[in-house]
Amino acid sequence: MAGKSFLRDVDRQFEAAAQLVPMQDGMSEKIRVCNATYVVRFGVRLRGHMHTFLGWRAVHSTHVSPAKGGIRYAPDADQEEVEALAALMTYKSALLGLPFGGSKGALQINPADWQQDELEKITRRFTQELTRHSFLSPSQNVPAPDMGTNERTMVWMTDEYRRWAPNDINAFACVTGKPLAAGGIEGRIEATGRGVQYAIRELFRHEEDLAPTGLSPDLADKSVIIQGLGNVGYHAAKFLSEDDGCRIIGVIERDGAVYREQGLPIEQLKQHLNTNNGVRGFPDAAFVADGASILTRRCDILIPAAMEGAITEANAGSINAKIVAEAANGPTTFEADAILRSRGVLVLPDLYVNAGGVIVSYFEWVKNLTHIPFGLMERRHHETSHRMLAHSLEAMTGTSFPDGQARAFLDGAREIDLVRSGLDDMMRGAYEEISRARKTDAGNHDMRTAAYMIAIRRVSEAYSVIGL
Ligand code: NAD
Repeated sequence: MAGKSFLRDVDRQFEAAAQLVPMQDGMSEKIRVCNATYVVRFGVRLRGHMHTFLGWRAVHSTHVSPAKGGIRYAPDADQEEVEALAALMTYKSALLGLPFGGSKGALQINPADWQQDELEKITRRFTQELTRHSFLSPSQNVPAPDMGTNERTMVWMTDEYRRWAPNDINAFACVTGKPLAAGGIEGRIEATGRGVQYAIRELFRHEEDLAPTGLSPDLADKSVIIQGLGNVGYHAAKFLSEDDGCRIIGVIERDGAVYREQGLPIEQLKQHLNTNNGVRGFPDAAFVADGASILTRRCDILIPAAMEGAITEANAGSINAKIVAEAANGPTTFEADAILRSRGVLVLPDLYVNAGGVIVSYFEWVKNLTHIPFGLMERRHHETSHRMLAHSLEAMTGTSFPDGQARAFLDGAREIDLVRSGLDDMMRGAYEEISRARKTDAGNHDMRTAAYMIAIRRVSEAYSVIGL
């Protein structure tokens, strides 16, 4: 989907929800529009030639600072797409109650066209431009990885920022999604996929919300089709199958889709994808060259986790899933959303489902600002007091703790335990709020409208209290 129609869809969704939120005159327009977009063209000498690159960093809202949002490297990126994604970041952070405004960036390149050392040069030049114009700093604008960028890209950006601002003691907080050895946090890579799992689990805990789908409230053996086995899709598929017993019956990738009714082994499939640059040829599974056609196969849960505009007017009428969990940003167009609703398909919206990334980015940013790993002060203290409690219980009852349980009870929480616990808590809390906001005197709203209503109300309040 071209960025223009993506931006129009985000705006239309915003307007549908904004009219349900009481606000002072003109506030709705103030919230909807993108505050500023920095367009940058810069040159890098590579392979004996000067190449000019085009990039953007959009700041949709700074009702709180810093503004937060990923940077993607994609050949078809454009300004409207970046602005649509920045708007989604504003609404996502507001929905989750995170202290961030919304931002997003992109560079119009295909990373596969360049060697690592070339990508490093390009990224460092891009970072210089962003930093020089205050579109990258721990207090003003904090990027993270997105499509086509990863931990390594974030290390280059941090390193370049530190050269620019050697006296900034909080320099590591200038981007999130860094590797552990460079100021990152446990659980950031898995965060968005983990959040997808927590979002789906939470829906299944709410029998009243689940009832219209006709599905039983047990995730085990539910059939799932996933589009995109990248960072988000792979982790969601892995956790839903390994922890919850879901059957991942279909995986759609760039070169086609693989399908197996009994469920696909995700770890092996991911290895096959990495080695062969596609899913074709994966053993004991049917291969379908027209991958997108698998989107309409019958399943309980469809997870678009690749890119925007996967479900459109053209295929929404044929979607054969009970639930669509939007792991990608903007995978369903505005028209397609209406069609899915009219057909009784329950849509868990992107600004909720894929919020795990920004939630754990928030933890990472706080860790960088406090300069201390989570749990460092408490862990041994908790172990000691738990051990004393266990000894007392054993002395009082004359029986000892079963071996396996003792370990789980005695061990203090590690950083990864705290990160997952915090992520789960925030995903559950937001679900409760969406579920409550859906039910109004005028009838039930869909989850997306309810999520937008919460976000818009929060941003409006933030602007109002500063006197806007
Ligand atoms: P990624 O690049 O790691 O993975 C995307 C996957 O989708 C790749 O495996 C790619 O081959 C596949 N793909 C691309 N085009 C496809 C097509 N037309 N058909 C089928 N498969 C296709 O990216 P990601 O980080 O996993 O992001 C995926 C989506 O999730 C994006 O919309 C992104 O904005 C969103 N998202 C990502 C994060 C995060 O933390 N990474 C957070 C929030 C939202």
